[in-house]
Amino acid sequence: MQHLLDLSLEQIEAELASWGEPRYRAKQIAEWVFRHGATDFASMTSLPPALRTRLSEAFTIAPPPVLAVRAADDGGTTKALLDLGGGDAVETVRMDYDPDGDGEPDRVTVCVSTQVGCAMACRFCATGLQGFTRNLTPAEIVTQVLHFSRPSQGGRRETRPGEGAAHRVTNIVFMGMGEPLANYAGTIAAIRWLTRPEGLGLRQRGITVSTVGLVRQIDRLSLEGLQVGLTISLHAPDDDLRRDLIPTAGGTSIDDLVEAARRYIERCGRRVTFAYALLDHVNDEPEQARALARRIRGIQAHVNLIPYNPTAGPDLRRPSLGRVRAFQRELQAAGINATVRIERGVEIAAACGQLRTDVQHAATPLPLVLDA
Ligand code: SAH
Repeated sequence: MQHLLDLSLEQIEAELASWGEPRYRAKQIAEWVFRHGATDFASMTSLPPALRTRLSEAFTIAPPPVLAVRAADDGGTTKALLDLGGGDAVETVRMDYDPDGDGEPDRVTVCVSTQVGCAMACRFCATGLQGFTRNLTPAEIVTQVLHFSRPSQGGRRETRPGEGAAHRVTNIVFMGMGEPLANYAGTIAAIRWLTRPEGLGLRQRGITVSTVGLVRQIDRLSLEGLQVGLTISLHAPDDDLRRDLIPTAGGTSIDDLVEAARRYIERCGRRVTFAYALLDHVNDEPEQARALARRIRGIQAHVNLIPYNPTAGPDLRRPSLGRVRAFQRELQAAGINATVRIERGVEIAAACGQLRTDVQHAATPLPLVLDA
């Protein structure tokens, strides 16, 4: 059965109009889903009973079942593996940032997946090693966020074990499994629901799309009239090494990506971030930092260094903290703004694709909640 959130608000309005219903019903339904966390039509008591029945015969709004949950960082990081049916599963992670420790996080970021598996085959990425199965639908992306944003206090249902109290989600990063710009339509439709006032109503600037570097789709995104942030995964200062780490990079050069970033900045007025996974003695030498700085100098960019999160399989290592800081210092000395990504959830295998890999390779099913 089709998920209602695979339709846009306008499509729901058109469908209801064809049933002879007033247009405002679509907004009422959206309010039930996004404000009250409704997971079935029967609970939408402001709708006429006949309409509730007809909706439930035509559509579903059920959330995906949860296969496994892990919490870490004193509950500040929670990762869920969601069952999409047919043996497909995806991960979603919630990270709370509560600098003053008052239990009221200043920022709640959800990291969403856009594909089951991934076709990009990055050598260091657990998802890349799983291969590609399929794109997620818009609803499958949006419901990952709803999984973590449904109200628990005064809400419609109990908080699930390991889920923690529901907090208001403030930020979304498209940094889970898959390549968002290879699922362009699904990603854009999800962003529309997440940002429009009748949907989750998040600020567009609170959303970041991370891409392996699909130039044509970066240009397309820059023309959507959205204000979302863009991260381009670079990972190397030269094209040979980049193609070794990202075998599908093909004919796209680092210069092509820098030019695409420049156009994105011009059109959207947003800074672009270059992500750089640091791999011990592969791409973390000081001269590689200097080479990287030369290639990206002159644009409004920022480098986010991600010390490699060891995943099963490839023979790669995480650099020492000393090497990470030395790389960062070289970039800064060359005038490039560089930060090191704060580690979250290492002990729950929060790196892209790791939970699915663990669960599917585990001899026995995982307990629902592991260490908090
Ligand atoms: N396909 C998108 C989103 C992938 S996940 C992209 O390529 O950007 C988000 C980031 O995590 C990417 O920069 C990705 O290269 C990086 N990443 C994946 N596996 C990693 C690992 N094991 N350690 C460190 N970074 C990793």
